[in-house]
Amino acid sequence: TRRKLIAGNWKMNKTLSEALALVRELKGPAAALPADRVEVAVAPPFVSLAAVAKELEGSALKLAGQNCHWEASGAFTGEVSAPMLKDVGCAYVILGHSERRQYFGETDETVNKRIRAVLAAGMTPIVCVGETLAEREAGRTKDVVEQQVLGALKGYQAAEVANFVLAYEPVWAIGTGRTATSAQAQEVHRALREQLGRLFDVGTAERVRIQYGGSVKPDNAAELLGQPDVDGALVGGASLKAGDFAGILKGA
Ligand code: 13P
Repeated sequence: TRRKLIAGNWKMNKTLSEALALVRELKGPAAALPADRVEVAVAPPFVSLAAVAKELEGSALKLAGQNCHWEASGAFTGEVSAPMLKDVGCAYVILGHSERRQYFGETDETVNKRIRAVLAAGMTPIVCVGETLAEREAGRTKDVVEQQVLGALKGYQAAEVANFVLAYEPVWAIGTGRTATSAQAQEVHRALREQLGRLFDVGTAERVRIQYGGSVKPDNAAELLGQPDVDGALVGGASLKAGDFAGILKGA
């Protein structure tokens, strides 16, 4: 059985002191979970990673980057590399988030390149996919997410992919308070797992963890996480308050 991964994507929120205060409050609730069944991670802004890592020493909480460049170093003003994230203590890197696709020109091709960098640095990618409302209403949800998966995972081996995390985040559910129903989430997660089975093999498909993201809250977490193909949550807004995030962890 797949270990659930609940991750808080803080996006562009929290100063350093706020970040430290939040993780101090999360250590207890994270430690209360059975580590063999549930993994917990937070993705603070880059500038707070080092200090948060120090605060988390010896705790079960893991650290994730919100993005990284595909080159290891060089003249790329404003960018952060995968080796830097690894060095500072990250285990995961979120890639291809819809906000990066929407506002910063991210494409399936650039996600594909970033995955290579994350693997080379010894971390695990969290690859985000998801359809817009217009795409869903046009009945194109599966086409869209399968195309994103195809582009992102092109050229990777089954043995690599087996350790990847996918995050299904319907764009219309992000920050809107309008969550996918557990049935809608399960349907897409199932389709993605079947696609992985076709692209690679069933054993690989069964190992890949697929998180759901989009308005996950304490009151809907248990229902979503109870679906057979929902292997965790990628939480935005509700990861910014210790009480809310702890409430979501309880649902795992
Ligand atoms: P919300 O939980 O705020 O809807 O954000 C989801 C998300 O984008 C996580 O990456």
